[in-house]
Amino acid sequence: MPIQPTEKIWRNGKLIPWNEAQIHVLSHVVNYGSSVFEGVRCYAPNNSPAIFRAAEHAQRLLDSAKIYRMDHPYTREDIVQAMVDVCSVNGVFPSYIRPIILRGYGEIGVDPIGVPTDVYVANYPWGKYLGSGSIEDGVDVCISSWTRIAPNTLPAMAKSGANYMNSQLIKMEARANGYVEGIALDVNGYVSEGSGENLFIVRDGKLITAPLGNSVLPGITRSSIVQLAEDIGIKVVEQMIPREMLYISDEVFFTGTAAELTPIRSVDKVKIGAGKAGPITMSLQSEFFGILHGKKKDRHNWFTQVPVKQAVAV
Ligand code: PMP
Repeated sequence: MPIQPTEKIWRNGKLIPWNEAQIHVLSHVVNYGSSVFEGVRCYAPNNSPAIFRAAEHAQRLLDSAKIYRMDHPYTREDIVQAMVDVCSVNGVFPSYIRPIILRGYGEIGVDPIGVPTDVYVANYPWGKYLGSGSIEDGVDVCISSWTRIAPNTLPAMAKSGANYMNSQLIKMEARANGYVEGIALDVNGYVSEGSGENLFIVRDGKLITAPLGNSVLPGITRSSIVQLAEDIGIKVVEQMIPREMLYISDEVFFTGTAAELTPIRSVDKVKIGAGKAGPITMSLQSEFFGILHGKKKDRHNWFTQVPVKQAVAV
């Protein structure tokens, strides 16, 4: 889906016009992928715009920057405020928020020390990531022939632009073969994650997800789902998942800011459970979307309100 521009983008503390948020082709980030970023959603529960888990996303952004030794002057609270400000000024709800810290224009050698760091926060409207009907009906996915980034190569705990070269390979191959998404195995052949989603399976009533050691991003939706499962009495374990366990699972689903909670109905054309969202997936969807859409109480204080003069519904 083409990006739909909004009015303003936050850059290094100031709101600037959308079209002025440009960078030079010889910027460090363009040549070497030196950026860290976030994907965050602003929902509009009960017509009152609010950002989902803003502080956790801001913290992961700062963590990613720290891993890559990117210096910048902003605190977690500053980043949260920037997200609120950009959502508020643009007045477009619901929306997807993209904070990004990048190495800009200065020197062109690989060594990034001395290259200025720029921080941006943009937001724009965005729909269902894995296609319409995916949340209700589930998606067909495959195991990728591409392996997830191995430990001690590109850090999987950092959400860096460069990691998404690997994600692009996974995604393109899956689509070329007629699937919506691919699941990558880690370097040892255990299930890691989708190109932009964490993965859960259900077996014998237990919810299982791969630990961070299997090269997964510490997903914020992942942690929300773990919390919601605990709330409704479902046992959750972090455990390495052999590939074949996917095929014999009762239920499998993706989680992510973009994918939200998307059931998987087949893996490599092997039908999962009844080939549709299973009962635990549906209970978790009901809890999760209940909170996101304001039908259930935000009992964990996951929302940060966005003050708005005039909202433009999209
Ligand atoms: N893994 C990868 C590789 C991702 O890009 C994402 C999306 N940020 C996720 C998992 C899910 O993370 P989150 O729930 O924080 O969006």
